[in-house]
Amino acid sequence: MATKYQSLRGTKDILPEDSRTWRYVEGKISDIFARFGYQEIRTPIFEMTELFVRSIGASTDIVNKEMYTFPDKKGRSLTLRPEGTAPVVRAYIQNQLYQKDEVLKLYYKGPFFRYERPQAGRERQFHQFGVEVLGASSPAIDAEIIYLGCFILKSLGLDNAKLLLGSVGCSDCRPAYEKLIVSTLKESTSKLCDDCQKRYKTNPLRMLDCKNEDCKKQLKKIPSFAGSLCDDCKKYLNETEELLKLLEVSYTISPHLVRGLDYYTRTTFEFVYSGLGAQSTVIGGGRYNNLIKEFGGPSVSACGFAGGMERLISVLKNEGKIPSLSDGLDVFIAQIPANTETAGKGDECFKTAFKLLQEIRCFKISADMDYRNGSLKSQFRKANKLKASYVIVIGEDEIKKGIVKLKDMKTGNEENIKLDEATSKLKEKF
Ligand code: ATP
Ligand code: MG
Repeated sequence: MATKYQSLRGTKDILPEDSRTWRYVEGKISDIFARFGYQEIRTPIFEMTELFVRSIGASTDIVNKEMYTFPDKKGRSLTLRPEGTAPVVRAYIQNQLYQKDEVLKLYYKGPFFRYERPQAGRERQFHQFGVEVLGASSPAIDAEIIYLGCFILKSLGLDNAKLLLGSVGCSDCRPAYEKLIVSTLKESTSKLCDDCQKRYKTNPLRMLDCKNEDCKKQLKKIPSFAGSLCDDCKKYLNETEELLKLLEVSYTISPHLVRGLDYYTRTTFEFVYSGLGAQSTVIGGGRYNNLIKEFGGPSVSACGFAGGMERLISVLKNEGKIPSLSDGLDVFIAQIPANTETAGKGDECFKTAFKLLQEIRCFKISADMDYRNGSLKSQFRKANKLKASYVIVIGEDEIKKGIVKLKDMKTGNEENIKLDEATSKLKEKF
């Protein structure tokens, strides 16, 4: 049917069939976060634009092209959050959370917004789950966060995600690496895309994240970051690797893993899934040692990751890892209309059923009925559709006798029970 209104490009309705899957995945992830000692934080959907420009970086794709930025009624520039780290860091400083715990472990989940070209695995409103450990720098934190990502994927039944690990160094060693990038590509700048030609001048490291195939060919010439790391960064990477080995997490060192945001220092990582096509990263993260201070907070460092719900769910579907999630109804109440004229409205049968329905629900038993004036047959059809375990049949004759019929839909057994004992009888069954 032609509809008057359509959802916007790059946004999706999560319909009941799918939201069941979402709840399953979100539930698993939240349980794991709690098990690893993370507490939830919920930040607003929109923030001052400046927050994202300053943290993500003015020459990143997100800030350059992808932000939903608009003036509010007072002319202030606001932005729908494109990622979760900057808002969490803002909240951490604003609420002085650093005074509560030296090392704070937070997680979040919810919608994020980027004006990207919609395609498989790339929406304009998408959903992320993520963690941030704020307040300390220790390879144990990086290793545990990576292990946590691995643990989530494994717990959902995904064993073959590939873990890429890198290091983008620190302010001591990065300038030399940037110089190395520039000198390596000196003769081939004309072969780079327009964006990379700009990046070459303003932010050479950003080129390493370019998805353009021609650029990728040129970028291969650039030596690995590993060779340019200072002693401290090298040591940090080695220690992180040792701990990953201790936890039996397998990984591949990626020579150019910079990720799409400028705030990273040292550790970067991604979990990629080959079956996903071009949009293959399911979880990505890294360490950011300067952002909190740059935002006016204490001089402490942090590390985190963010995962994409849509991509994760599509992998789970591809791999057949979504368990059958039937949320069938416990009890359906059917009534035999004595008089089709008054049935479903005010007759005794309806009133008795309607009252009993609410009583049953008070005992944490899920229950429903058909509010239309339908035949008993159509009511049973509905009970089957709702996958009801039991059906209670209420008829005028039965009411007079103070009884109702209880049918076990699995076995087909039927028994007459007293109307005023119906709820206690059902309580025994659930
Ligand atoms: P990519 O370039 O692979 O889209 P990114 O570097 O932009 O990733 P992050 O900003 O680190 O990604 O976001 C973390 C995760 O969120 C991604 O790995 C991905 O799973 C998901 N994600 C990011 N952008 C989108 C989007 N537009 N639609 C759906 N999921 C997304
Ligand atoms: Mg992106």
